[in-house]
Amino acid sequence: MRTLVVSDIHSNIEALNAVFADAEEHEPVERVLCLGDIVGYGPAPMACLEALWERHAVSIQGNHDAAVAGIIGLDDFNFYAAEASRWTAQQLSSDAIQYLADLPQELVDDSFLLVHGSPKGPLWDYLISYGQAVEAWERTDSSDVLVGHTHFQFAVEAGRGVEHPGPNGLAMPLGHARLVINPGSVGQPRDSDPRAAYAIYDDDARMVYLHRVWYDISATQRAMADVGLPEALISRLSSGQ
Ligand code: ZN
Repeated sequence: MRTLVVSDIHSNIEALNAVFADAEEHEPVERVLCLGDIVGYGPAPMACLEALWERHAVSIQGNHDAAVAGIIGLDDFNFYAAEASRWTAQQLSSDAIQYLADLPQELVDDSFLLVHGSPKGPLWDYLISYGQAVEAWERTDSSDVLVGHTHFQFAVEAGRGVEHPGPNGLAMPLGHARLVINPGSVGQPRDSDPRAAYAIYDDDARMVYLHRVWYDISATQRAMADVGLPEALISRLSSGQ
């Protein structure tokens, strides 16, 4: 069974649709897991939620989801993120707000613990280094950990270190050593690669694959300008930073 793992969609429906199309191009995707930050920053929060609901995606809560739902305040957000968060809340139905509010902050799925930030700080902690991966493994009984939040796509294997995908992605075997996987951000990559990022978890092959796909960045940027979202958030999509 192939499971699509997405994170940090950030209301970017162009990027999310490109990911769905790419992931399903050769083989069907049976399940969708989302590691949070469905909304915030981008122009199409409702469309992204509806696309996930349509596929019966299972999601955890990110800090932007929690902020839009009013569970946390905007004090820890920078000016542009807070601006976008207030705009996003106005675009959502009450059902959508309730859905975001009810999302769990942690979930166990097969060998994986799913958490937006890290087991130490589910909403806010940034997991980026090998040392932080070791700390994550120490805090969970699950063998492997799926995280988002940093908008950097990478894998960490116990005993080996942090691995970054090459031009054709990265394939990681499951069950050899403990893993931390970040599928990267669908809607606002920050690892200098503007393509939408995602992962496929194949439990028959016992592999996790990290992928990238181009999407119509300018269409998202036009939609953001049309609704008056901050220019700084629009321009960063071109560089993936
Ligand atoms: Zn995010």
